[in-house]
Amino acid sequence: MPTTPSRPRLLATALALAACAAVPTTAATAATAATATASPAPPERPPAAAGCALKGTTGWTDEGHDTDPAQFQRATGTHRVLTLFVDFPDAPAADSTEAYAAELAPAADWMRTASYGRSRLAIDFTRQWVRMPAASTGYGFQRGLTFEAHERYLRDAVTAADPSTDFSRYDMVYVVPARTASAISFSPTYLYDPATPGVTADGARVKWAVTFGQDMWHWGHKVAVHETAHTFGLPDLYAFSGDTHRFVGGWDVMGNIAGRAPQYLGWHAWKLGWIDDDQVACQAAPGRRTVRLSPVERPGGKKIAVVRTGPTTAYVAESRRAEGNDPRPCSTGVLIYKVDSATATGEGPVRVMNGHPSATPPAGCTPLDLAAYGPGESFTDPAAGVRIDVLAGGATGDTVRVTARRPAS
Ligand SMILES: [Zn+2]
Repeated sequence: MPTTPSRPRLLATALALAACAAVPTTAATAATAATATASPAPPERPPAAAGCALKGTTGWTDEGHDTDPAQFQRATGTHRVLTLFVDFPDAPAADSTEAYAAELAPAADWMRTASYGRSRLAIDFTRQWVRMPAASTGYGFQRGLTFEAHERYLRDAVTAADPSTDFSRYDMVYVVPARTASAISFSPTYLYDPATPGVTADGARVKWAVTFGQDMWHWGHKVAVHETAHTFGLPDLYAFSGDTHRFVGGWDVMGNIAGRAPQYLGWHAWKLGWIDDDQVACQAAPGRRTVRLSPVERPGGKKIAVVRTGPTTAYVAESRRAEGNDPRPCSTGVLIYKVDSATATGEGPVRVMNGHPSATPPAGCTPLDLAAYGPGESFTDPAAGVRIDVLAGGATGDTVRVTARRPAS
């Protein structure tokens, strides 16, 4: 949709208010290598993956394949991240920055693994505290943060650090508050508004930032990869209202940051350019095909089988295993989910289909965490004319047969 100058501001406000990674206690206000599979498939024409690339229509973070390069960072290559440590007149730092850096630093390895080496965070940690000009209680975090208040917080941090920092060397900024600043409670992402002057330093616009809150001590480094992925254009998969984790449970770090299977969905890997079109098996017309899926936790091979069901909708099947960024998933096998690129962030743009809705989850797992389908199991959506059968599973991944009975119109 066309955007007005105020539109991005409102949306950014919504993003911040939506408790992007809100602390649990305030949840009510609320985140290639080429090891192809061993058995060489018979030569097949490169799949017309483009036929399954959905167009985003929300004007903000969504599941559309193309991402607005004016609003969001490219998701590939090296991102130079400057981390600022801030304290406040009412909340002076009482410790060194070392533990703070240690808490967030693993985000770099996590992101590199998640992206099959295509996205790197080169995180620089300044060692000194810089003093903010206003009290920690003066930035509006307690009342819910507006875009303007959030930008003021970022501007104050950048201005305070500017004398000792060359901001032109960086793509984005992390701002980390002292533990004593309890008022800075949650960790919203800042995405600049191209229509406003915004925050500048050293002749450079600060376009993207994550301002961490005390919830970073709950979530750990995965709050950094969740928030940073917003700057790449990914939406929130948890629900902004109602039962928070009803859409995707603990699948994908854009859902529950503390979930048991945080590796990004294969659909996200495709959107972000971490896998290639030939790693996508697309069924965009009536027909049937068998696809050998390589787990999304490892590089190489076919990553997703997609059945397009409409202009903005598709079903996706991918293989999940207990490895890489998912060391302890609650279930493994074929994860099947519905994507709708017209659904806004926080409203369920991805919905995981539960293969075992009556199973009792063990401690630490939710019912939806048991969603993965095993060999012999199948998913059907009669209304959409879609069927997905899991034919086999093994060390190299899963084999599925996807059937589309209706044209995707
Ligand atoms: Zn978020």
